[in-house]
Amino acid sequence: MRTRGGAPDGPVGERAALRLAAGRARAGELAPYLGTALYAVKPVATTEVPTVGIDTRWRMYYNPAFVLTLDVAQVVGVWLHEVGHPLREHHERFAALAEPAERLPLFNRAGDCTVNEDLRAAGISVPARKAWYPERVPGAAAGMTAEQIYRLLLDAAAPDPRPAGQSPPQQFPAGFDDCGSGAGGPRRPWEGDDSGRDAGGSDDGSVDAGRAELIRRQTARDVLEHARSRGPVPAGWRRWAEEVLAPAVDWRRELLSVTRRVAARVAGARDYSYARPSRRASATPGVVLPAMRQPRPPRVAVVVDTSASVTGDMLARVHAEIEAIVRRSRGTGVQVIACDAAAGRARLVQRVQDVVLVGGGGTDMRVGVAAAAALRPAVDLVITATDGDTPWPAEPPRQNPGATHVVLLLDGEREGVPGWMRRIVVERDAPDAR
Ligand SMILES: [Zn+2]
Repeated sequence: MRTRGGAPDGPVGERAALRLAAGRARAGELAPYLGTALYAVKPVATTEVPTVGIDTRWRMYYNPAFVLTLDVAQVVGVWLHEVGHPLREHHERFAALAEPAERLPLFNRAGDCTVNEDLRAAGISVPARKAWYPERVPGAAAGMTAEQIYRLLLDAAAPDPRPAGQSPPQQFPAGFDDCGSGAGGPRRPWEGDDSGRDAGGSDDGSVDAGRAELIRRQTARDVLEHARSRGPVPAGWRRWAEEVLAPAVDWRRELLSVTRRVAARVAGARDYSYARPSRRASATPGVVLPAMRQPRPPRVAVVVDTSASVTGDMLARVHAEIEAIVRRSRGTGVQVIACDAAAGRARLVQRVQDVVLVGGGGTDMRVGVAAAAALRPAVDLVITATDGDTPWPAEPPRQNPGATHVVLLLDGEREGVPGWMRRIVVERDAPDAR
């Protein structure tokens, strides 16, 4: 058991670690379909966290003194609660909302409601400090998403009394039980960094984005298998599992959802249909401010693997997808780079007829990804379409570290895609879907 920040050694630390281990074992018995996820979590003892929280790399920080106030049944609830946050991608979902960081406590509670509702259905309770349920939120009901409950919490929250322009408070409100960056928001002071390395430089066993996705998919399969053959699974977990596995039969929708997230980030856009009138607007009668400036479309580059191993059939699917991306670019166009062992010159494509894919040699997508990163103005989204038989860059390109990278795997699942790139497996169209 690793420790951070002056965790008590000796009897207290040992007893807490034992109780935590007993709780995890029992949690795995009560919810075996969550076992893969439970055992991927790395517990870290620290007195810096008031209760328990989890980060984006699935490290669960616990305060040993707090754990010792709980019995094993409550520790079961802690485990299944905390692992629920990264499983359900609460960090990514809060980021996609592009909301101010000071609203994080509301999103954390909304996420807690959805996680706890399913735990209650399985007869598992959580410690009082994390016990948010939909009925605590005016207007909320079982089965709502975290985003829906978040909007209701936002509506119910007292209007912000701070004068415009004053910076938000640096501390979260009193009584807020922070579940860590895995539940949303930036890295907390007690969390480790994103390197996945410990102080000695070796792998700390934490979970990167690529492995997290594999854990989610395995867990989703386990949930559905359990529901089919072994016993009841709470409705929310079943819905979640179906959604996680759905992109495999609809990769275009998955790509579209990534593109939309990037577009929202580029525009700094929010869901304005829910926003209250701004203070400025209400203080100036008769003046109607535009709800939202016209955002610029995201700048997109597509790197296409044109090496000999990529078939015409695969390229046809890429071609169709580039066509859709070009259509959505609203006349801005898309940079297309054909890449085999070398990257071709980027071509700005405004009509799909302009797409020319030539190549036929060996494969090295590293040069294509680097060429996309070197484009100026810098692109926001790089989509690399390949059969996956290629070396990969270990780290995001330094020339454009802010871009989102998606890999379209044209020939099914493939190992080796680095964790910082988002993988989408392109499924062959079913014959009846044409
Ligand atoms: Zn929580």
